[in-house]
Amino acid sequence: MPALTPADLRRHLGDDLRGLRPPRTALVVGAGLAGLAAAHELHRAGCEVTVLEAADRPGGRARTLRRPFADGLHVEAGAMTVTPECHYVTHYRERLGVGLDRSDLLDQDFSYFVDGKFVRPDADSLGTAGLPLAEHERGLGVPELIARYVTAAADELGADLTAPHWAPSAALEELDRSSVDEVLRARGASQTAIDLMEPMFLEMRGGDLLSASALSWLRHESGYRSLLTSTDGWGKIDGGTDELPRAFAHELRDRIRYRAPVVRLDQDDDSATVTYLDHGRLARASADRVVVTVPFSAIRHIDVSHARLTEAKIEAMRKLRYASIVRVYLQVREQFWKGHNVSVSTDLPIRWVRDATANQPGPRRILEVLMTGWRARALAAMTEEERVRFVLDHVETMFPGAHDRFELGLSVAWDHEPWIEGSYVLPERGHSRLMPAIRAPENRIHFAGEHTSFEPNGGSMNYALESGVRACVELATAS
Ligand SMILES: Cc1cc2nc3c(=O)[nH]c(=O)nc-3n(C[C@H](O)[C@H](O)[C@H](O)COP(=O)(O)OP(=O)(O)OC[C@H]3O[C@@H](n4cnc5c(N)ncnc54)[C@H](O)[C@@H]3O)c2cc1C
Repeated sequence: MPALTPADLRRHLGDDLRGLRPPRTALVVGAGLAGLAAAHELHRAGCEVTVLEAADRPGGRARTLRRPFADGLHVEAGAMTVTPECHYVTHYRERLGVGLDRSDLLDQDFSYFVDGKFVRPDADSLGTAGLPLAEHERGLGVPELIARYVTAAADELGADLTAPHWAPSAALEELDRSSVDEVLRARGASQTAIDLMEPMFLEMRGGDLLSASALSWLRHESGYRSLLTSTDGWGKIDGGTDELPRAFAHELRDRIRYRAPVVRLDQDDDSATVTYLDHGRLARASADRVVVTVPFSAIRHIDVSHARLTEAKIEAMRKLRYASIVRVYLQVREQFWKGHNVSVSTDLPIRWVRDATANQPGPRRILEVLMTGWRARALAAMTEEERVRFVLDHVETMFPGAHDRFELGLSVAWDHEPWIEGSYVLPERGHSRLMPAIRAPENRIHFAGEHTSFEPNGGSMNYALESGVRACVELATAS
């Protein structure tokens, strides 16, 4: 069977996946968006499908937090933004009757808080703040620094970098062996310039400029999901991101079994078998095909020693790295800072603070702090109470009055979230070599999920949904 391309899948989707002949039975492991899309399409095509989900809810990393917040306020623990190019999100949103709203990230009032002072990203404000930029960077604002160090680097690589079908040339593979830090420094960026630019790209994507693949980064920054290329069309799922997985789950009903973690996978020439927990007992189920959507960060909970997997797959499972992200939310009884929809990148250890509910009704607000990389891992090692206290104390130095207005706090440390244990793929140097093995089917066992995306930076609902459709097409075209 020839390998499927993104264009093949868009054709199948445009054709409403008609004419595909799925296997008689299939099992899907995981009810995140990838598993839900695969199960949805398999069911529509007449396959007898069962989804086994370890958690007690659908959606995985598409997760909205509503409790214990007051006044109906809600925040996102995981996925938040949808762009007009997210064709799969649009397709399923429309089919399932889920609405779209304007993204809160669009009208943000962005600033830095450096050395105890607020600084704007424009050249005048940077100049007045007297930040130690290099001689050749003086007089530039952050947009100009980005144009010089990021956009120019991407432009030099030409069309190869942004080709719709990801197949890096030899020159690009060489870049894949370099880190983001190496590329920025080779172009003359000072540490101060890097610190100012970072929130626009890697800070949000998981940090680690020293190990992240320069190629994967530049491809991401040239694409439609980058803050650098954001357009007015950016949106969010109306009412909270979890409305999308909930709509899928409502439709699939009792074809999804919750609290049913899969602990072992087997296959022989005729079928594939999963062993899972069912109310404290071990249960087994067999089917013609199995689709595994479990992130590789949590795959070690499944025994695959009898699954007949190739060495390349086992290596990919072991090597794939995930970004560490912690989000902490502080509910305050009223706004006590200046400006609407503020978003502040800081040199304090908390790194990034924003008003996460600026466009929600009522006097209360939820301030969100997002930390990545080693700082996120440090925070993850604290107790819940310590995390909230740590963040609140630092927010107080930036926005005095935080302690007085504070009502309650909550955090999500993605490295510690059961059955996920990471936020999303963080492509390290040499990532392009791992990619084919991550996605490849292994006889009767198929793989979906954001990490199996055609793009090195999977990390999106769109790619998770696309991978579910890809797995469904694979099943229907396998002999
Ligand atoms: C902090 C953060 C911010 C993000 N921001 C955005 C954004 O703005 N826009 C965007 O589009 N995307 C964003 N994403 C990415 C997006 O959320 C994911 O790419 C997508 O939701 C992944 O879907 P999935 O189905 O591949 O995996 P998951 O959602 O992780 O689903 C996997 C499922 O498998 C289950 N599972 C695991 N192990 C087992 C087992 N042994 N047995 C049974 N079930 C198991 C898990 O419980 C889970 O439900 C963000 C993610 C994070 C973490």
